[in-house]
Amino acid sequence: MFFVPSEPHNPRTPPSSPINLPQFTKNGGVIQEQPSLSTFETAKPWLVSASGVCALYVHVPFCFHKCHYCDFFSIVGDEKQQELFVNRLVNEFASVAPYIQQPIKSIFIGGGTPTLLKGDLLSKMLEAIASNFTFADEYEWSIEANPETVTLDIAERIADAGVNRASIGAQSFDLDCLKRLERWHAPESVARSVTYLRKAGIENINLDLIFGIPHQTIEVLRNDIQQTVDLAPDHISAYALTYEPNTPLYVREKRGEVQKIDVDLESQMFEETMALLASHWYEQYEISNYAKPKRRCKHNMMYWNNASWWPFGPAAAGHVDGRRWRNIPRLSQYMAEAQLPPVEDVELLSENGQAGEALMLGLRLRSGISSKRVESLMMVPEGQWRRKIIQNHIQNGFLEWDSSLRLTPSGLMVADSIIGDLLMDETSMVDTTMQDPNAKE
Ligand code: SF4
Repeated sequence: MFFVPSEPHNPRTPPSSPINLPQFTKNGGVIQEQPSLSTFETAKPWLVSASGVCALYVHVPFCFHKCHYCDFFSIVGDEKQQELFVNRLVNEFASVAPYIQQPIKSIFIGGGTPTLLKGDLLSKMLEAIASNFTFADEYEWSIEANPETVTLDIAERIADAGVNRASIGAQSFDLDCLKRLERWHAPESVARSVTYLRKAGIENINLDLIFGIPHQTIEVLRNDIQQTVDLAPDHISAYALTYEPNTPLYVREKRGEVQKIDVDLESQMFEETMALLASHWYEQYEISNYAKPKRRCKHNMMYWNNASWWPFGPAAAGHVDGRRWRNIPRLSQYMAEAQLPPVEDVELLSENGQAGEALMLGLRLRSGISSKRVESLMMVPEGQWRRKIIQNHIQNGFLEWDSSLRLTPSGLMVADSIIGDLLMDETSMVDTTMQDPNAKE
């Protein structure tokens, strides 16, 4: 399954997960292409299609420690690997840049921990981006940061290169919660990072939070939110903890060594998060994302509007006009691979698959999808079954549809179920429409 690199590199979970793109079944509309397109000749059409792209994602795959809930591709690398990686990445920028004809509106450097790169290597990577691409006037350039890695020097290097937004993985301000997440940072390092970044000139700051951590109470969550808003970030992402298969956390939970929190408590935490952030004038513009006026994340809006972007770095996922792919996910192969771009695992979505995906992404936004757009998505003959599903969810109070189609407050609490129903293939549709809607909860 592909993942779209989304703002927080933290768990993806219902009802508040970052974007997690499905692999469609045949009925759902995927055409599976050759399993691998790894030669330059084969990949050449992708470069041509890059001409209309105006967003970039860059994946830096190093962390100083692997948090046990994380299933993003990252390794604990050494300096030599960092250097080889950055050299390779710079070549990758140069190989794709001539094909990109549009000014870049958003760049997101994620990972991994991009700010873990040694100062000169970080500057080299950022300068290569700045020199290879043309930027739109009001561009947004974000970088993810682990609070322990942000020094004043790193903050200044970032700002000097033109980065204008930073996303800090705070996750919690409670030592016990951080320990349970196996996050290796001190709570006070978050405030220090914010200070350094602002001092360097970066005003647009996001803080990531996780709720639903084992043993976390509502009081602890309230304190986390209070400490977050006290730092006055422009943007806050708050996700529920998920247990992703193949992560140590998942294994420990299966062995009974870790207890998930009660689902009702998790729902209560989600409601508390929404209410508290609203009382501090943060607009919830997406299921898990909250912003001050004019501070919505432009890059993530691009994902939710199902636009195109080009990926760089190992395991980075890309999308151009219904084609989704990812780069080679193994660092050694990525660095040794002779051909650029290092594309593999290409999927071409059918029209019906694209319609399902557009609905899935757009419904995450509180504003939903415009009716005009929904009607055009409904024109796909193989996707007519969705109309009945939508009507059922409207009757049950989970969706509303006037000038736009969107989740109601009740629908928000079971968003993944509602959205998942619109991705179903026809064979499973009958079962679901007969379900008691309350059973979704
Ligand atoms: S800092 Fe932790 S959560 Fe973030 S990418 Fe690294 S291992 Fe994953």
